Amino acid sequence: MDSAYRIELLSGQVLFREGDAPTTAFLIESGSLRITALREGAPMLLSDLGPGALVGEMAVLDESPRSATATALAACVLTPIDRDQFAERLTAADPVVRALLLSQLSRYRTALATFTGNAASTTMEAPATGEGAASALDKIRLESQLREALERNELEIRLQPILEIVSGRLAGYEALTRWTHPDRGVVSPADFIALAEETSLIVPVGEYVLREVCSALRRLTDAAHATLFVALNVSGRQLEDADFVARVLTQVRAHGVAPAQLKLEITESLILDYSKVATLIEHSHRAGIRVALDDFGTGYSNLGHLHKLAFDTLKLDQSFIRQLDDPRCLAIVRAVIGMAAALGCDVVAEGVETAQQLEQLRALGCQYAQGYLVGKPQSVDQALAAIIS
Ligand code: C2E
Ligand code: MG
Ligand code: MG
Repeated sequence: MDSAYRIELLSGQVLFREGDAPTTAFLIESGSLRITALREGAPMLLSDLGPGALVGEMAVLDESPRSATATALAACVLTPIDRDQFAERLTAADPVVRALLLSQLSRYRTALATFTGNAASTTMEAPATGEGAASALDKIRLESQLREALERNELEIRLQPILEIVSGRLAGYEALTRWTHPDRGVVSPADFIALAEETSLIVPVGEYVLREVCSALRRLTDAAHATLFVALNVSGRQLEDADFVARVLTQVRAHGVAPAQLKLEITESLILDYSKVATLIEHSHRAGIRVALDDFGTGYSNLGHLHKLAFDTLKLDQSFIRQLDDPRCLAIVRAVIGMAAALGCDVVAEGVETAQQLEQLRALGCQYAQGYLVGKPQSVDQALAAIIS
């Protein structure tokens, strides 16, 4: 008996015809279906499908009319699948996967139309269309270009100075990665790191940055500044890697620098992955490497976990520093600095842009400041020239 959830066909019955508007796809539960398309007026066999096969799904994906006819070869039981069930998943899918699927579908339809002699006057395949297809392809293009940039050593690290507020001395730097694209110009690390994180590309990018940071540390040490540190941003994928700290140590040793000169920055959203962060801190401390919690206060602060994670540094997000003239924001910053002191970690204020902000932070007992007031991210050569002079 037919229902919205089950359809039965007798041998020879037609499920849908070429040219019909698509409404539903079907899963064959039992029996078999023959798929044909008309060629010069005669039905041509495309395939025979049995239990477990999907049929009619193409037309519901791209909303084109049915390009073939499905007829029961033997009595069949089918489960109908509403187009919305696919549409929802397709919308939720990775835009690149969606573009790939629709592009393949378009190619198949073009080939079929050519084969059956139903091709329109032009046989040029339609480009992948639909929502987000262009941006998905743009993303893939950018990813290839990033791969190429990596191979050509075109990624560059910049060092942004971090000031010890009380002494007015340079304490160290944060390494920030820069990519200057031949056509697009400077691509923000927020964009290309996120892109690299979507695939395994973040692994070689991370390795590259690590090597560059160690080599910069070597040069800073040779310039007799063995106490300066460089902070390195760690991505979520690197956190997944159980051997990450061992890999870091290998590079540190290869460049002959002290582990204590390296600091790892974990952005706050990653502490949701509590146990991985705990392991990273434990491994780092065993190796003599310090760990900072980056962008603190931006939305994922989980105090329930913080007391168990022995961070050495809290980096207070720049959104707080920007609003220091708001008494309520000031109260939060004061409380965070107090809490950090009680937990035995120091505080770096991010995004310090004015002398007034620096004065307020000094009065609050904040130890370190980073921001355009102290210095913009600079090349390793510039950083070396500045400390030597
Ligand atoms: P972040 O780690 O919080 O780095 C601080 C960001 O604030 C940097 O942006 C820096 O240029 C910017 N900044 C510093 N001082 C000021 C200031 O006074 N005012 C303002 N408005 N901004 C300031 P950038 O370089 O665009 O980097 C963005 C984010 O990308 C970084 O945020 C970090 O999360 C990520 N990132 C950068 N390089 C790497 C990397 O090599 N690996 C990984 N995994 N992430 C990276
Ligand atoms: Mg950072
Ligand atoms: Mg930050």
